[in-house]
Amino acid sequence: MRYIELANVYQALESTTKRLEKTHIISEFLKKTDVKDMECIVLLLQGRVFADWDETKIGVASRMVLKAINVATGMSIEDAESEWKRIGDLGNVTQKLVEKKKQKTLFSGELTIKKVFDNIRALATLEGQGSVDRKIQLIAELLASAKPIEARYVIRTVLEDLRVGVASGTLRDAIVWAFFGKEAKLNYNPKEKSIEPEDRERYNRISEAVQNAYDVCNDFGRVAEAAKAKGLKGLELIGLGVGNPIKVMLYQKAKDVADAFERVGKPAAFEYKYDGFRIQAHKKDNKVILYTRRLEEVTKQFPEVVGYVKENVKGREFILDSEAVGYDPKTGRYLPFQSISQRIKRKYDIEKMAKQFPVELNVFDIISFEGRNMMKEPFRKRRELIEKILKQAPKRIVIAKQLITSDPKAAQRFYEESLKMGEEGVMAKNLDGIYKPGSRVGYGVKIKPVMETLDLVIVGAEWGTGKRSGWMSSFVLACRDADTGEFLEIGKVGTGIKELEGSGATFEQLTELLKPLVIDEKGREVRIKPKIVLEINYEEIQKSPSYKSGYALRFPRLVKLRDDKGPDEASELEYVKELFYGQK
Ligand code: AMP
Repeated sequence: MRYIELANVYQALESTTKRLEKTHIISEFLKKTDVKDMECIVLLLQGRVFADWDETKIGVASRMVLKAINVATGMSIEDAESEWKRIGDLGNVTQKLVEKKKQKTLFSGELTIKKVFDNIRALATLEGQGSVDRKIQLIAELLASAKPIEARYVIRTVLEDLRVGVASGTLRDAIVWAFFGKEAKLNYNPKEKSIEPEDRERYNRISEAVQNAYDVCNDFGRVAEAAKAKGLKGLELIGLGVGNPIKVMLYQKAKDVADAFERVGKPAAFEYKYDGFRIQAHKKDNKVILYTRRLEEVTKQFPEVVGYVKENVKGREFILDSEAVGYDPKTGRYLPFQSISQRIKRKYDIEKMAKQFPVELNVFDIISFEGRNMMKEPFRKRRELIEKILKQAPKRIVIAKQLITSDPKAAQRFYEESLKMGEEGVMAKNLDGIYKPGSRVGYGVKIKPVMETLDLVIVGAEWGTGKRSGWMSSFVLACRDADTGEFLEIGKVGTGIKELEGSGATFEQLTELLKPLVIDEKGREVRIKPKIVLEINYEEIQKSPSYKSGYALRFPRLVKLRDDKGPDEASELEYVKELFYGQK
C-alpha cells in the first residue's frame, strides 16, 4: 500500500477534533487495508512502530532530523534550523523544504507504507560505530522519495510526535465500525457526523468483544487483523498467552470504609495495600517471565523472584498478579517503593542488587491457570485457587493479607492495622468481581489516608538561569484527555525537586531524562515528548482559563518520579474534575 494513502488519512484526522468523524475516517481506511498490512498500519495510525508495551525507543533527536533534511534536500543545516525556529514543528518544516526541492527536481520514486515502517523500525536497532550516519541515511532515504505531505508525517513519526489525535477508544470503535458495521446495522450520517446502531444492544456486545480481545493481547493491530479475517470468532481466538502480558486491573479511590462498602458491596475482601510495584508473573513449564504494570519485561532484573515463582507455586502454566515489596536485608523492615525502584531499570550488578535490595512477592490475583482463563471467575474463586497452589514463605513469596467482612468496625481496624505496619492503606474488593484488565471499573477500590496526588506528564520545560543554567528548572505538567489521547496542560512545577535527591528527580536527573525527548526549543522554553510521569501534590485545584485543561494547581510540589508509569497512565481530565468538585 502506498504511504500517501496513510498520509491523507493523517491529514484528514488532523483537520477535525470530532471523535465520531475521526472514527469514521479510520474505519473507512481499515476496511481498505489488507489483512497482512493490518498490524503495521494500526501501529502507524497511533504514531508508533512498536507495540505500546514494547519499550523500544526510536531514539532520534531533532538534530539528527536536521541533518537528514540536509542530506535529502541540500538545504543547509543552519537554514533548516532557522526555519524550524520560525515554524516550530519539524514535520511542517520538512514538508515545506521538500516542497521547495520538488519544484526543482524530478519526482523520485514512490513511498510504500512498508518501506516507511521498516526504515523507522531499523532506526531503533542501530547501535555503535557509524550508526548515526546510517540513521541519517535511513531518514534521508525516506525523505528523498516522499511527497511534501508524506515528509511531514514521516518526520513526526520518527520524532514520536504524530499528534493526529487517535485515542485507543477511537481505534476500538473504528474496528467495530469497519468490520461489524453491517452486523450492528450501523448507519453513519455524514452530514451530522453521527452514527446510530439500529440494534444498540448488539452494538455494545460487539464493542465489548473487541475491547476484551484488546485487553488480553494489548495490540489493536492483532485485533483488527482477527476481526477482518475471521469476525467475532477471530476475536474469541485471541486468547491469553503465557509470555503475552495483559493490561493489569486498576482500582478507583474510595473515601473511607463506608464508601468502599457502598462501592464494592458486602461482604467485601479487604487486603493490605503494599507499597511496592506491580509484577505480573507468567510461568510455562520451566520458564518464568516477569512484567511491570507497564508491561515491560523485568525477568532479568529479578532473578530471585523467578526462583520463588518456580519453587513455591504449583502448576505447569499460569499468570499471577502481585506486588513486589522491598525490605532491608539486615533489619527485615519493609521499605518504600523508591528504595527498590532502581532495580527495575538495572542492567548490571543484578545479583548484587538482589542481595542489597531484596523483594518479597505479595500475590493477590490469578489471571490464568493450566491454560484456563480465570478472568471471568469470581474473585473469591481466584483467591481460593491461589491459596491452594501457593506455598507461602515470608520474605520471599506470600499471599496478600486479607480479611473478609461486612462489619465496618472490623474493616476499619484492619485498615488501621495495615497503616501501622507501614503499608499504604487497604484495597477493598468485590468477592464476585471479575478480573477486568485496564479499566477502573470498580470491582475493587483503594483506601489511602493521604490526599490524592496526581500523576502528570511533563510536556515542556524551561532552561534555568544563574545557578541553574545548564539545567531545566521548571516543568510544564499535563493531564490526559481520555477521549482524544491529548495531553492538556494543568500547571508548572519547580520546587520540591532538590529535596528529593536520590529519588531520581533532581534537576540534574530530570534534565538528563528529558534531553533526548526535546521536540523543539524557543528561547528558554522547550517542548518535550510526553513520556515522563511525575507524582504531584498540591494545595488545591482551581479553574483556570490559561491552561488548556481548564484547571490549574495551586502550589504544586513534586512527590516522586513515577518511572513505573507511562504517559497513558497519567491522571485523566475527568479525574481532575472529580477531585475539583470533591474539594468543596
Ligand atoms: P495506586 O497505584 O495508588 O492506584 O494503587 C493501586 C496499586 O496498588 C496496584 O496497581 C498495585 O500495584 C498496588 N497494590 C498493593 N497491594 C495490592 C493488593 N492487595 N491488591 C491490589 N493491588 C495492590
